[in-house]
Amino acid sequence: MTSTAPREEQLWSRCAGCASLLYRKRLRRNLDVCPECGEHARLGAPERLRQLVDPGSLRLLPNQLPETDPLYFVDVLPYPHRLSAARASTGLAEAVVCATATIGGHPAVLAVMDFRFLGGSLGCAVGELITRAAERALDDGVPLILITASGGARMQEGVLSLMQMATVSQAIAALREAGLLTVSVLTDPTYGGVAASFATNTDLVLAESGARMGFAGPRVIRQVTGRALPEGFQSADVLLRHGQVDMVVQRRSLRARLGALLAATRATRPARAPVPRQEPAPRHERLGEAAATPAGTPGAVDYPAVRDAWDTVRLARHPGRPTTLDYLDSVFDGFLELHGDRLGGDCPAVVGGVARLADRHVMVIGHQKGHTTAELVARNFGMASPAGHRKALRLMRLAARLGLPVVTLVDTPGADPGVSAEEQGQAAAIAENILTLTVLPTPVLAVITGEGGSGGALALAVADRVLMLENAVYSVISPEGCAAILWPDRSAAPQAARALRLTAPDLCRLGVVDEVVPEPSSAAHDDPAETARRLRAALLSNLLPLLDVPPAMLVRLRRQRFRRFGAARAGARAGAR
Ligand SMILES: [Zn+2]
Repeated sequence: MTSTAPREEQLWSRCAGCASLLYRKRLRRNLDVCPECGEHARLGAPERLRQLVDPGSLRLLPNQLPETDPLYFVDVLPYPHRLSAARASTGLAEAVVCATATIGGHPAVLAVMDFRFLGGSLGCAVGELITRAAERALDDGVPLILITASGGARMQEGVLSLMQMATVSQAIAALREAGLLTVSVLTDPTYGGVAASFATNTDLVLAESGARMGFAGPRVIRQVTGRALPEGFQSADVLLRHGQVDMVVQRRSLRARLGALLAATRATRPARAPVPRQEPAPRHERLGEAAATPAGTPGAVDYPAVRDAWDTVRLARHPGRPTTLDYLDSVFDGFLELHGDRLGGDCPAVVGGVARLADRHVMVIGHQKGHTTAELVARNFGMASPAGHRKALRLMRLAARLGLPVVTLVDTPGADPGVSAEEQGQAAAIAENILTLTVLPTPVLAVITGEGGSGGALALAVADRVLMLENAVYSVISPEGCAAILWPDRSAAPQAARALRLTAPDLCRLGVVDEVVPEPSSAAHDDPAETARRLRAALLSNLLPLLDVPPAMLVRLRRQRFRRFGAARAGARAGAR
């Protein structure tokens, strides 16, 4: 055997579906679909592109971005080591490959995720690259096709990875406004922040045969519910039955089907003149550098991080902490609660309605927890169901029509990790709220009052100004969840809490939060009246300037605010250690 001859094990591959031993070349000729059982093996992004686009039409878009490690994240390994290992093993710069190409002769921009690269996780670079791909589609006046494969957000980039859900969603919103088709193709697996944003808020959602998609993963749902999952849970065929996808497509038909969709939806309107690109606002600084906000503005107040992050997590979850209904009583007047999603449900974990703040009417929407076990159970611990997100969506749109500003109060461990929530389209419900907030033509002011947990929190927190109570937390994943994945076990939650940079002062420095609302020295639950007084003052000082901004300008500024998170890497080197 010469040194260039492939080794025996490289010639054969065992099918994950039926365990048949398959000749690798034959498997590849069959598009990596098992000829025995039809199992669709996972594809890397380069092979996926090769299969999908017209030969000779592929033009890769630039994928080189400066290095980033915005949190200096270290679990059992420093994050840069994990990145280097992923690059070495895949030969890719990041977990997505973007390109222009034609499919069946129709031009499109494609962004193809690669699960082999850190589980296809959505970090700042992935968000930036997909956003640039969407902007390229807008400039060229062609459809955008997103092939998703992801375990969710990239924990090592903390809440900045959560922000990518908004950054990419608003780029999709811009394509909607321009009348350009967006298509996502779910491949196995598509979970978490990707599922709850650009995988499901596109015009069309296709699922490759055998793909699974959901917001919460099956392991988490089994742990929380303590029950076995229904047959085929979160699989393409079941998603189709529950109305979550437009069609399920075999890999061998995918290229023809996409070509037919592009042909059928081809815009008949004249090509659009290129719009001036929205330049990202100046990026946030890395932790430890000077605050990004100019001196003299409220956000410039630099709160000393006096408390350990884990202690703050415990304060944020304190059962005595004021809830949304408490604030509606103490900060606002004349609350008129409005119920229902008009689709068959009224989620008790989300409350909303019209209220007065000083002499102005506002739409208030917030997560509702409770102080006693009975209250918490009745409110599902503040974990919204799809009906809750859809109620919030209805009230946001109503507010915009009536010219009312929206104030959101965020206090949730996360969205409901249950079987029925998934079946009712949890991911798409969150995704639609995030996208809608990026286009809502009325002021939006969000306050993280307790726990800002993941996509469930972001679904109420894409805002013109984001405030945070001093002892609230805001994170892409719970410290316990992060510890269970990146550390040997959940007992590392306190270390994970520190590494995630989830406290108000940290998030203010990262530019995710504009202003910290100080709590009384003993914390909110010890002096709710004083907390309410401070919150009211902060709401008024932040809301009043927004009322004078024309709606189109508000939306433009809001998008700039979230666009900069995609660009978070650019220039990150400047602050290298
Ligand atoms: Zn097989």
